Amino acid sequence: MRYGIFSDVHSNREAFEAVISALKKETVDEFLCPGDIVGYGADPDECIRLVRQLKAVSVAGNHDWAVLGQADIHYFNPIAKEAVLWTRENLTADGKQFLETLPLTYQNEDLLMVHAALPHPESFEYLMNTEMAGQMFSVMDKDICFIGHTHVPVIVKQDQSKINVKNPLDIKLQDGCRYIVNVGSVGQPRDGDPRAAYGVFDSTARTVTIKRVEYDIKKAQSKIIAAGLPPALASRLGYGE
Ligand code: ZN
Repeated sequence: MRYGIFSDVHSNREAFEAVISALKKETVDEFLCPGDIVGYGADPDECIRLVRQLKAVSVAGNHDWAVLGQADIHYFNPIAKEAVLWTRENLTADGKQFLETLPLTYQNEDLLMVHAALPHPESFEYLMNTEMAGQMFSVMDKDICFIGHTHVPVIVKQDQSKINVKNPLDIKLQDGCRYIVNVGSVGQPRDGDPRAAYGVFDSTARTVTIKRVEYDIKKAQSKIIAAGLPPALASRLGYGE
């Protein structure tokens, strides 16, 4: 099975469409989304429509939950908070209903998926160090888990008791090892590369590849400004930070 994985779309239609056309060339069998379809960008309904059209299996991110009033936004920075409130105001009832259907975790015979981290998916903790990764590996009953949330692509590998971060982001899975994979963000990359990020997991060939694709950043930026969202959300797209 070949999975096309896209995370943290964040209402960025231009980036999402570029990722979808790139993934369509990859002959993908199934699409997966580790959360945060909405928040930050100007096209929440359109991004939800595209996720549904792809029949992508999705889990809920903290922004999806915040828009529904299910996550505490006190810890959000002022700009993120403003974007949540804007999305709550502008998203259709139909869009909200779809977000309500999203579970916090998903698993099938090949993989696990969660937005932030385990064992407490509802607290949306940032997976920042090997100690947290170790905690997460200890509760994983699959060899591989796909996550989002930090907007930084990374592959963490556990080989017996050793945990390390893999680079380059193109690997063949080794027997007896386990992996946590963040495919990066479609709609708001934060690793200094402004191109949209996505991943492909081939469960038969046992490979994971994280790729980038250019998109019309200027168009996404002008929509953010026209929508009255914080201008900083437009400018950061140009830097990928
Ligand atoms: Zn996010």
